[in-house]
Amino acid sequence: MEKLVKAIRDVVVANRILAREGVVDAYGHVSIRHPDNPEHYLMSRSRSPELVTLDDIMEFRLDGEPIDDRGRQPYAERHIHGAIYEKRPEMMSAVHNHSHDVIPYTVTPVKLRPVAHVGAAIGAEVPVWDIRDNFGDTNLLVMNMEQGRDLADTLADNQVVLMRGHGCAVSGRSIYESVMVSIYLQVNAKLQANAMNLGEPVYLSPGEISQCHETFMSDFSVDRAWEYFRSRANVTGV
Ligand SMILES: [Zn+2]
Repeated sequence: MEKLVKAIRDVVVANRILAREGVVDAYGHVSIRHPDNPEHYLMSRSRSPELVTLDDIMEFRLDGEPIDDRGRQPYAERHIHGAIYEKRPEMMSAVHNHSHDVIPYTVTPVKLRPVAHVGAAIGAEVPVWDIRDNFGDTNLLVMNMEQGRDLADTLADNQVVLMRGHGCAVSGRSIYESVMVSIYLQVNAKLQANAMNLGEPVYLSPGEISQCHETFMSDFSVDRAWEYFRSRANVTGV
C-alpha cells in the first residue's frame, strides 16, 4: 500500500514537472506501472497535466479498461501506455507528449540523434512511427490497442519512438527516467536544430551515447534531476 501511495504521488509530481518544462501543454500524459500488479498501470483522468491532483489518478488494465472509473473520463490515447507495458516488461513508466520542438523530426528525413551529452538520454536510435502506414487516414490519435501495439512494435528495444505529425512516446525503467528522457529529448531536439542552422553537427558516437546514457540514468543523477525539476515546478498539495 505504501508503494502504491508513493506511485500515485510520483505520477502527480511527474505531471506538474512535465507541464513546467513545457514538454506537455493542454495535452500529453504520463503513467506508471502499478507497483504491486505489473498487469495494471496508473494515470490521470483526462485532464491537462499542470492541473492533475491525487484524486485524478485512475488504475487501468494493460488493455486500457479502467478498474474503478468513478465517473472519471480517461485519456483517449491511454492505449499508448498499455501497449508499451505489454511490449516492454522492464519499463515501469511511459510518457506521451506533443513537444513542438520534436515534431519537425517526425515530418522530415532528418533523424533525431544525440548532439550533446544530456541528449544521450534518448538513446542511439529514435525510430519514427507513421500511423498512416497500417491504418490509412485517421485523426492521428492512438485510439485502440491495435494502434498502440503497432506503435510499440516500432519502439521495439529503443527508449523513444516519434509519431509522425503528432509527437512522441517515451519509456522509462522508472518514472524519474521517463520524465528525464522526455525533458532532454526536447532539449536535444532544440540543440540539434540550432546546430543544423550553423552547419553539419558532430553527433555523439555509439560508444559515447552508451557511456553518457549510463551516467545520466544512474540513480544519483536521476535523483538529483528529480529534486531540481520538482523544486522548479513548485509542487504543492502532494
Ligand atoms: Zn497525442
